[in-house]
Amino acid sequence: MTEWESVIGLEVHAQLLTRTKIFCGCATHFGAAPNTQVCPTCLGLPGALPALNADAVRLAMRAALALECELRETSRFARKNYFYPDLPKGYQISQFDEPLAEGGALEIEVQDVGEATPRTKRVRIQRVHMEEDAGKSVHGEGSDSRVDLNRAGVPLIEIVGEPDLRSAAEAGAYLRAMRDVLVFAGVNDGNLEEGSFRCDANVSIRPRGSTTLGTRVELKNINSFKFVEKAIAVEVRRQIDLTETGGRVTQETRGWDEARGETVAQRSKETAHDYRYFPDPDLPPLALSPALIAEVRARLPELPRAKRARFVSELSLTPYAAEVLTSHPRVAAFFEEAATLHGDPARVGNFVQAEVLRDVTTRGLTASLPVTAKQLVSLLSLVDDGTISGKQAKELYAAVRGTDRDPREVARELGLAQVTDAAALEQICRSVIDKNPKQFEQLKAGKAALYGFFVGQVMKETQGSANPKIVNDVLRRLLEEG
Ligand code: ADP
Ligand code: MG
Ligand code: ZN
Repeated sequence: MTEWESVIGLEVHAQLLTRTKIFCGCATHFGAAPNTQVCPTCLGLPGALPALNADAVRLAMRAALALECELRETSRFARKNYFYPDLPKGYQISQFDEPLAEGGALEIEVQDVGEATPRTKRVRIQRVHMEEDAGKSVHGEGSDSRVDLNRAGVPLIEIVGEPDLRSAAEAGAYLRAMRDVLVFAGVNDGNLEEGSFRCDANVSIRPRGSTTLGTRVELKNINSFKFVEKAIAVEVRRQIDLTETGGRVTQETRGWDEARGETVAQRSKETAHDYRYFPDPDLPPLALSPALIAEVRARLPELPRAKRARFVSELSLTPYAAEVLTSHPRVAAFFEEAATLHGDPARVGNFVQAEVLRDVTTRGLTASLPVTAKQLVSLLSLVDDGTISGKQAKELYAAVRGTDRDPREVARELGLAQVTDAAALEQICRSVIDKNPKQFEQLKAGKAALYGFFVGQVMKETQGSANPKIVNDVLRRLLEEG
């Protein structure tokens, strides 16, 4: 029986984080009322001329460099001609045979089914080019269809990956790594729900060992990482079943039906467009000077993989903690500031993971932190100097989060203070022992596991405000006294 190998290549469309569109001054803000962010240029009215947004170029360059691509000194915009109601000009301005950048790579970390540990893999990037987005058709009741052109002319980059991926898991890892790189580079907000990060997956199969490519199917418009992985796995299965039962895969576009768990045919190659690309006569070639390229390269921020490696090697975090604390550039910056102020990265990292990240949405641009690094460090220092207990720190955190208040002051107001008075704690210890004579005898007889039981009872009596170290000392002394 033939053993099959799946071959996958992804095309990612990412919106560039500019205030205005790529060829006009209209706003790119998401969620505005339909057709309120439009002008003659993005409406495609006759005579209106495009003017290239310099910010979009810088961001696209940054993305290309972050993906280790070679930038072309001269690239060119081309018209991609097709008819669609959401495309008033009758063409989309894109780049074709002279794209902005080529020949890059993205490193992914993946652990596939049956693999004991994660492995790293370099996936080649074919090209990165700039283009404008189209508008959106909104289908209502019955035959009611409307067009919203707010998105028309929003700047995008398309990142075309080589068909180097060999499983759905690798494709998922690639998309996550791509999103992270673009978000850390400050190029994209990584928001799949709002459509600012989209992907098409090209999928084919071939007998293992073969070096030629099979006929590919393009899976379009799948708006979650989970669904992309599912759709690829199901499509690979479909192609194998079809081939093994004497059928042949045809080149076509398919969509994903989540309810049925199937990919469904949309458009075959016979009805595919001939886009008749040609250079846009309204736009001059895009020339990038070596000085500009050098400047953009010099300002490239630290990327997620490098940051993770540094958190492990310099701050001695575990790989898992490093991963969690770099889920978003703002989280990473917050953690690093707090770690520097405090001096013990592992301890700061633990508290950030356990408390702070609990209600932070790190996907999309919404990662705003509930406290400042200074507040966090001041809170932790109250634990360090014995003023409050670890449990009280959580209570204090809940009271401080979302405010700009000084934790020391809030702790005072809430009457949060650790019981460090050895005499008071001794009394509580004695009463706990009186209530549990049997257990105390067993402890004395050497059943050390009961030690934790007594500490726990004292903590309970004091609502977690006892200083555990002093409780330990007192218990030990009472035990010795018998
Ligand atoms: P188009 O732009 O018309 O979709 P391309 O040749 O530029 O066509 O390919 C686009 C994407 O398809 C790339 O990401 C590439 O890796 C992927 N691809 C091409 N051939 C195959 C194949 N046989 N199997 C899987 N992916 C493929
Ligand atoms: Mg394609
Ligand atoms: Zn406009």
